[in-house]
Amino acid sequence: MSSVWHPFTQHGLGEPIPMVDHAKDALIHTADGRSFIDAISSWWVTTHGHCNPRIMAAIAEQAGKLDQIIFAGWTHAPAETLAAGLREILPEALEHVFFSDSGSTAVEVALKMALGYWHHRGQADRSRILVLEHSYHGDTIGGMSVGARGVFNRPYQPLLFDVGTIPFPGAGAEQATLDALEAECRAGAAAFIVEPLVLGAGGMLFYTPALLAEMAAVCARHGVLFIADEVMTGWGRTGTLTACEQAGVVPDILCLSKGITGGAIPLAVTLASAPIFEAHWSEDRARMFFHSSSYTANPIACAAAVANLAIWREEPVLDRIARLGQWQQAALDRLAGVPGLVNHRRLGTIAALEIEQPESGYLSAIAPRLMAFARAHGVLLRPLGNTVYVMPPYSITCEQLDQIWKLIPAFLDAPG
Ligand SMILES: *Cc1c(COP(=O)(O)O)cnc(C)c1O
Repeated sequence: MSSVWHPFTQHGLGEPIPMVDHAKDALIHTADGRSFIDAISSWWVTTHGHCNPRIMAAIAEQAGKLDQIIFAGWTHAPAETLAAGLREILPEALEHVFFSDSGSTAVEVALKMALGYWHHRGQADRSRILVLEHSYHGDTIGGMSVGARGVFNRPYQPLLFDVGTIPFPGAGAEQATLDALEAECRAGAAAFIVEPLVLGAGGMLFYTPALLAEMAAVCARHGVLFIADEVMTGWGRTGTLTACEQAGVVPDILCLSKGITGGAIPLAVTLASAPIFEAHWSEDRARMFFHSSSYTANPIACAAAVANLAIWREEPVLDRIARLGQWQQAALDRLAGVPGLVNHRRLGTIAALEIEQPESGYLSAIAPRLMAFARAHGVLLRPLGNTVYVMPPYSITCEQLDQIWKLIPAFLDAPG
């Protein structure tokens, strides 16, 4: 038996763990010769497709030149080029780029920046963080603290800090959200962290750009920092480079990871506006931003991200995304009226629906059954409870996508 302890895996159930050997575009190949269509972009990271040749070449080239260097007080071309490139495609106000390694650390950095901002401005008591109900921001202690509480983090509850939870702005409930946010902001919060337009792990829950804009405006009125966690929504997932773009929102702090390297290698950035950087700027060493991880701005990861930026600049990525969105919509439309399927919805490349059943929630028995059914039919799918979503790499073919969606009615028809 393998000694590997897998994430989000109950080893006690003895479910099979396929051994993956190689992958290309939307296809994953196992060591025993099977292949699987990657319907979830290997957990939301793979954007263009597996082993994109330009990103792989950039990694190989950088690996022959500079592998790793301390980033405190040192720099290198891939990091500088990447920071400049991000500045070009992101809102002008996000002037400063801080590197880390994962979505969770990008969020931790954002929270620390927000607290540091208020502390250094002499308002250390302004430390309350506001969050949206059903949010997910990562599995570190800070990330869990600002995320939805549930079975995922029950044992760690004693360590999680208190936050102000704003009700999710479901259709018809928007005013309640804005009123709650207004009240919390008036009481003097430090920051509001949101997943713009789509709450991913919370069940692919969508809300409107208009509401995102209104929430940002409430925060701005009260000087509450607006943190956009675009770790999942960034890099084209919602149809635009960032989801905030659709609402005309410029956050004070922006977290990006997952697709930043095309999903090839870990990297994250937290971008901050000038006032946040300036609050830490001083001749006093005690005010510097006390955060680093060993691999901050790893040159090989940065080179992969620079290649990703070149792909965005030089290839019709948004056209591919729009086409994938149309295929997704057509697939959803074909399932309209199928008994047992509800809440069909799509934003950009993300399509989701619910399988109606008495028992819902993340541990709903339907998820592992559908996952196993999909696997038996050559598809990597990972439902969130009874929520089924498809979020494939942008290079998936129409035929591959149809193969994924055909599984859902087949699953409903299957015995047991
Ligand atoms: C995945 C995700 C994270 C955590 O990213 P990791 O790289 O897994 O640490 C944070 N926020 C959102 C919105 C995510 O989807």
